Amino acid sequence: MERQRRSASGTRNGANDPPLDDETGAEGRPGRPGSKPAAGLYLVATPIGNLRDITLRALDVLAGADVVACEDTRVTGKLLRLLGIKASLTPYHDHNADKARPALLAKLEAGGVVALVSDAGTPLVSDPGFRLVRACIERGVTVTAVPGPSAALTGLQLSGLPSERFLFAGFLPPRGAGRRAVLKELEAAPATLVFFESPNRVAEALGDMATVLGNRDAAVARELTKLYEEVARAPLFDLANRYAETPPRGEVVIVVAPPGEGAAIGPEEIEARLRAAIAEGSSVKDASALVAAETGHPRRDVYAAALRLLRGGNEE
Ligand code: SAM
Repeated sequence: MERQRRSASGTRNGANDPPLDDETGAEGRPGRPGSKPAAGLYLVATPIGNLRDITLRALDVLAGADVVACEDTRVTGKLLRLLGIKASLTPYHDHNADKARPALLAKLEAGGVVALVSDAGTPLVSDPGFRLVRACIERGVTVTAVPGPSAALTGLQLSGLPSERFLFAGFLPPRGAGRRAVLKELEAAPATLVFFESPNRVAEALGDMATVLGNRDAAVARELTKLYEEVARAPLFDLANRYAETPPRGEVVIVVAPPGEGAAIGPEEIEARLRAAIAEGSSVKDASALVAAETGHPRRDVYAAALRLLRGGNEE
């Protein structure tokens, strides 16, 4: 098992330290108001919309860090101004990480305090930082987290879907074939699935999810913690239809029920969808294909239902 190296001051939460059992923190630990955090890399979560979701410990660490490494210095500069914190900022993002990492590691190895933040939410969750963390671990530099908001967990909480086991799948590939291939990999996972998605691709992504995963229950959670926070909960195809013409505004998390937790679409609903498709001019074959894709029911069964419908009722 890996152990955290103690800092020069010997005050980090090491395996031999007593547990933190109250909110004030024990003597000299990072998080004690006004104290300089002990040396090390701090992965600091920041609000995903509501400024008041910043934690007290995040305030202490950001104020006490020698440098705050961030994706975009303008975004984090604005956040720190709003929080009334002055800090030295340095960019650390997907495009400069390999070049910027050595300087951060040198600072850390010299006993410095580095805070890593992303534009919003929890660093490393679909955001940069993993290689920096790994390099610190390899060098015996203390790494600790200052937990806080994350859109993935907030979306899961509000989805109304089973939460005891979930799989965070990040962003899907932007194009259909790649997206469907990844969804196919996830199809059998016995877990609620959590995705990030850009608002303009939400409808397409939901349609592909319905086609590949079946018409499971799902939720689209947008603008979490913000003024216009909204969670739409419905089967995947209904959500795809809802957003086909008007994409959701703002930032979005998609949450999808595990296999077997889908909306129970019974024979009446299938018949109603077939009737509607045929009334709109689809052939029996096309209507069956459409309804099979919408509902996740085998095409063969839907076709048989369509034939029964045309013959004027249930013969079984
Ligand atoms: N690391 C961040 C976190 O822990 O929340 C996520 C960063 S990822 C690059 C950005 C994506 O997170 C957005 O495209 C969106 O899918 C989701 N997201 C971020 N803030 C959100 C919010 N307030 N409401 C809904 N989704 C959000």
